[in-house]
Amino acid sequence: KQLANRGVRNLQPYQAGKPIEELERELGVSDIVKLASNENPLGISSKVRSALQDTLSGLARYPDANGFYLKSKLAKKFGIATNQITLGNGSNDVLELVARTFVNEQHEVIFSQHAFVVYPLVTQAIGATGVAVPAKDYGHDLDAMLAAITENTRMIFIANPNNPTGTFLTTEALAAFLAKVPEQVLVILDEAYYEYVPEQERAPSLAWLNDYPNLLVSRTFSKAYGLAGLRAGYMVSHPDVADLMNRARQPFNMNSLSLRAAEVALDDEDYLQQSVAVNAAGMEQLVAFCEKHGLNYIPSYGNFLTIEVGERAGELYQQLLHEGVIVRPVAGYELPHHLRVSIGLPEENDAFIRAMEKLL
Ligand code: PMP
Repeated sequence: KQLANRGVRNLQPYQAGKPIEELERELGVSDIVKLASNENPLGISSKVRSALQDTLSGLARYPDANGFYLKSKLAKKFGIATNQITLGNGSNDVLELVARTFVNEQHEVIFSQHAFVVYPLVTQAIGATGVAVPAKDYGHDLDAMLAAITENTRMIFIANPNNPTGTFLTTEALAAFLAKVPEQVLVILDEAYYEYVPEQERAPSLAWLNDYPNLLVSRTFSKAYGLAGLRAGYMVSHPDVADLMNRARQPFNMNSLSLRAAEVALDDEDYLQQSVAVNAAGMEQLVAFCEKHGLNYIPSYGNFLTIEVGERAGELYQQLLHEGVIVRPVAGYELPHHLRVSIGLPEENDAFIRAMEKLL
C-alpha cells in the first residue's frame, strides 16, 4: 500500500453493481428490471448490429489509432475541425485524460457537491485537491464556484445536465460564467446527456470554443446513442488542447467495434429521435407517479429522475431489488434521502411504479 501514489491510496473504490444474472440468482427473481445506470432502454439499433457483424472479420488487426472516420463524421455533423477532437473509451476516458494532461499534485480542481463520481476520482488519483462547492437547489452554484477559484485552481468540471440531479444550467448562466473564469483555468463542460435537452434550450457550447480556448466539451455515445457497453466518447476543444491530450492518450483507446458502431450511430437520426421520444414519455410517466403520491423529485433534463423518498432510501432500494427492480441509491453523492431511477421502456417504468406503490 505504501508504494501507491498518495492520491490513489486515499481513493474509495468505485461502487460497481453485481452482474444482473448473479443478482437474479441471489434474490431468486428473474427478469430484473434495471433502471440503475442511465442506459438506453431501446438496446442497439439494427444498423449498429449489422455494422458490428461486418467489423468482426477485421478484429485481428489493430484499430485505426486516430479514429479517422469517426472524427471526420463528428467534424461534419457539428461544424468543428477534426483537430479539435480527442476520442475516448467512453467519455470517462477523456475526462481522465484531461486531468492527466493538465493537472498535477499542486493543483485544485473544482466541482459541485452533487457532481458525477468520476470528477473527484480522476482528481484524487493524480494527487490533486478536489474542491466540492455546495450546490444550489441541487444544481451548480456558478457564483460559488467562481468564488472558489484560487491561484492553484487548474480545472472546473460542470455537467450539464448534471448527474445524479438532472439539473440544467441555462445558456445565459453558462455564458456569464465562462466570461468570468480566468483563462488559465480549464472549464470541462460535460454534456453526456446533451441529446435529451430540447433543442431550443441547448447551449451553443461548441461555438463557444472559438471564444474560449480554456473550454472543453465532452460528449458520449453511451446515453441517447445507446452504446454504453461499447465505450465511445469524445472531447472537443481548442486544437492546441486536443493536440496535447492526443499526445498523452493511449494510441488504441477506442477499439474497432466501438469506432465503427459510433460512426453508424451518429448517422442514425431515427434511432436518436426514438431515444429522445421514449425518454420524454417515460419521464412523464414517472413524474405523474411522483405527483400522484406527493413525492418530491428533482426536475430532470437527463434520462433519469431523482426522487426524494426520505430516510428509508437505503432500505427502499433493497426492497425494490427484492421486487425485481434495480435503481441507484445516491447517498454517495450526498443525497441520502433520494433514489435515482433511469427512464426505461413504458413496461419497465410500470414495474418500478407498481413496486413503489406496493412498498410505500
Ligand atoms: N458524464 C456524466 C455526467 C455521466 O453521468 C456519465 C455516465 N454515467 C459519463 C460522463 C460517462 O459516460 P461514458 O463514460 O459511458 O461516456
